[in-house]
Amino acid sequence: MSVPLLDLKAHHEPIYKEILDAIEQVIHSQAFILGPDVKKLEERVVSYCQTRFAIGVSSGTDALLVSLMALEIGLGDEVITTPYSFFATAGSITRVGAKPVFVDIDPVTYNIDPGKIEKAITPKTKAIIPVHLFGQCADMEPILKVAKQHNIKVVEDAAQAIGAEYKDGRRAGSMGDLGCLSFFPSKNLGAMGDGGMVVTNDPELAEKVRILRVHGGKPKYYHKLIGGNFRLDALQAAILRVKLRYLDGWSKTRRENAERYRALFGETGLTDRVILPKDVPGHIYNQFVIRVPERDRLQAFLKEGEIGTEVYYPLPLHLQECFKGLEYSKGDFPNAEQASADSLAIPSYPELAPAQQAYVVKQVEVFYSR
Ligand SMILES: *Cc1c(COP(=O)(O)O)cnc(C)c1O
Repeated sequence: MSVPLLDLKAHHEPIYKEILDAIEQVIHSQAFILGPDVKKLEERVVSYCQTRFAIGVSSGTDALLVSLMALEIGLGDEVITTPYSFFATAGSITRVGAKPVFVDIDPVTYNIDPGKIEKAITPKTKAIIPVHLFGQCADMEPILKVAKQHNIKVVEDAAQAIGAEYKDGRRAGSMGDLGCLSFFPSKNLGAMGDGGMVVTNDPELAEKVRILRVHGGKPKYYHKLIGGNFRLDALQAAILRVKLRYLDGWSKTRRENAERYRALFGETGLTDRVILPKDVPGHIYNQFVIRVPERDRLQAFLKEGEIGTEVYYPLPLHLQECFKGLEYSKGDFPNAEQASADSLAIPSYPELAPAQQAYVVKQVEVFYSR
């Protein structure tokens, strides 16, 4: 049996015809840049994410970049974030000229530890970027509280978390000043190429992002601001409109898969060795990440058995070569470093069959009983 980490072919097969129709409509309309498809998707995302505004952009990375630009964060500013995320989170801070300041994660949720944020705040701190990693919301209440006390903005990196809910029912992206979504093909809501979205409740920030998206020009050729080409492609928007209709169903199946893994691992007697993600309501499991001893050897063993896995992320951000200048060193963020050493994402995509899950768990069991 073979179990890929993700099966996009199976994912798209049931909606193939609908997607082709949507693409065909865009081709007929010839409205390739922005236009009605992007606008309609933005309207749908507004209601889905429970925000007032949504602005389609070229990628999740650009959503972060343009959000920081809209907040006028730049040279001499500091932005607090997690060292345990995809590179773009910290990369975008550096690209606007600001300095990323890392704060360790909570070892259970993998998200930034709110209790450690205040110590990292300086007079230069302009924003906090919490990441809702793997589809679970960061603990936003204390983050928003400390941000408010110090008059600091909050940009949510919700690239892995569209539709995820915080404990009070609020949706990822709707709680901070701005929220950033990614439609990279492997995300819960994936395009067939790159795409992203900025969501916000603030009309001024929304307008600013909208203008920055088109080189800062309004009206066209009259530039108030220096923006860029951060537009969401109309073809991607048309595809995403089709796929968004199915997102709730997919998220439900991902949750069911997580439940099944809990039951299957529960029967193995591996519970003292394999740590499973805590069951939290509102988690949408963009990834199902377990923590295991001998992680790299287990990963190689599973690969031999044709099981796809991934390490998110093998090297925390504070130890990346390009951030040498920030002068962090090994041991600065032990929880992030530990997670880099022992976490492993196993297949949990919506089309995964129960027999495939049973096989994954069986192979993990075989590995540890050798
Ligand atoms: C995927 C991802 C991004 C970047 O999104 P792209 O659309 O690939 O540019 C940013 N942050 C996190 C946490 C991500 O997982």
